[in-house]
Amino acid sequence: MRPLMLRGGRVIDPVAGIDGAYDVLVIDGEIEALEPAGALAPPEGVETLDCSGLWVVPGLIDVHVHLRDPGFPQKETILTGLRAAAAGGFTTVAAMANTSPVDDTPEVARYMIERAREAHASRLIPVSAVTRGLAGRELVDFAAMAEAGARLYSDDGVPIDDEAVLVRAFGEAARIGFAISLHEEDRALTEHGACNAGEVSKRLGVTGIPVAAEARRVRRDLAIAVGSGAPVHIAHISTAEGIELVRAARKRRANVTCEATPHHFMLDDSAFARFGPNAKMAPPLRSHADVEALHAALADGTIDVIATDHAPHDPASKRLNRLAPLFPGDRDATQLAADDAETLAGAANGIVGLETALGLALELVNRGVIDAARMITLMSANPARLLRLDAQGTLAPGACADITVIDPKLEWTVDPAKFISMSRNTPFTGRRLKGKAAFTIVSGEVVHAARS
Ligand SMILES: [Zn+2]
Repeated sequence: MRPLMLRGGRVIDPVAGIDGAYDVLVIDGEIEALEPAGALAPPEGVETLDCSGLWVVPGLIDVHVHLRDPGFPQKETILTGLRAAAAGGFTTVAAMANTSPVDDTPEVARYMIERAREAHASRLIPVSAVTRGLAGRELVDFAAMAEAGARLYSDDGVPIDDEAVLVRAFGEAARIGFAISLHEEDRALTEHGACNAGEVSKRLGVTGIPVAAEARRVRRDLAIAVGSGAPVHIAHISTAEGIELVRAARKRRANVTCEATPHHFMLDDSAFARFGPNAKMAPPLRSHADVEALHAALADGTIDVIATDHAPHDPASKRLNRLAPLFPGDRDATQLAADDAETLAGAANGIVGLETALGLALELVNRGVIDAARMITLMSANPARLLRLDAQGTLAPGACADITVIDPKLEWTVDPAKFISMSRNTPFTGRRLKGKAAFTIVSGEVVHAARS
């Protein structure tokens, strides 16, 4: 592999404490040097990437994606998912365990890693299930799963209801040192629910999902976490109340981190009235006040990580044949007939996110909610820390050459027909965004270059 030099970009690396014009030299898949622009003599035979006007940042890491492989090739595969990740600027993604079969054995983890190796795109970390079959009863073999490549444990998609199981899982996590990512949902309160409980659910005539469905579970789980020594990560936090509980638990020295998704910090439940199944997820889009609480928590450090919860679904799983005409996207749906409300409640949860996350996060920067360095902390440095990827999340010499080059000025319109992901389920169709990945570099190799 030829040495690679990224010249004249604005390097933003919060871990190294750098924000300015720097050149980056990559040799043999590692950062060889990081020096103020013009200070480095390019070695013989170097390949140069002109990064003037662009941001050069440590590769973005998404700790929460669903790649549906093995098991659901009509939704996504590891190949298409990792290519979509690279196109979105992600150099590493952590793929959740709710595949078929579930990733609860080393064989499945090894299958995922093997497919990822063939993809030549972003890196994949297999997230191990916490319990066998995601059934919430018997723990997986934590050590064997770590040995096979897991660096995070989660039954995401389903909550762990049984407290005794959770206590044992925290014990394992404390021993092994990798975090457990919790999907916080009290299912007694979410049954038949389609969207946030509030004006929108009332107007549409669908069952609402109350804030308490999240808050009750976060409260219970953090109470168990305090003193357990386990690193605990709250997935896709969506409510002001949930955020307050995280703040309180930290004061009691719980080892807790949490993530927010672009859809939860960019949209409120009014988007559900327009996009219906393509704005349906668990937890649901919340109120405007919750969105503002997420913004404050992203800025003040309560939220550690931006993660996409990329959740591809085919149109049939979203019941779009029946529901699409009711949710035209350009105006609000009206009161649904009882059987349409039931169909909506049965539509699959989740939206795709890998190819829109960076543009949406940049919107926070452009609006002044967070600065660029904070965005990189949320999307690279902290995710690397959570997964204990010591050689990632920074461009300091010796780090692994996983680099995202961002064009912060490029304006584009979200068009799901152009997604590399196999699925199109997004509520951001037609949205104008500013900023996109220009180059995604993994281990010194360009795995995605935007067509200009
Ligand atoms: Zn989840």
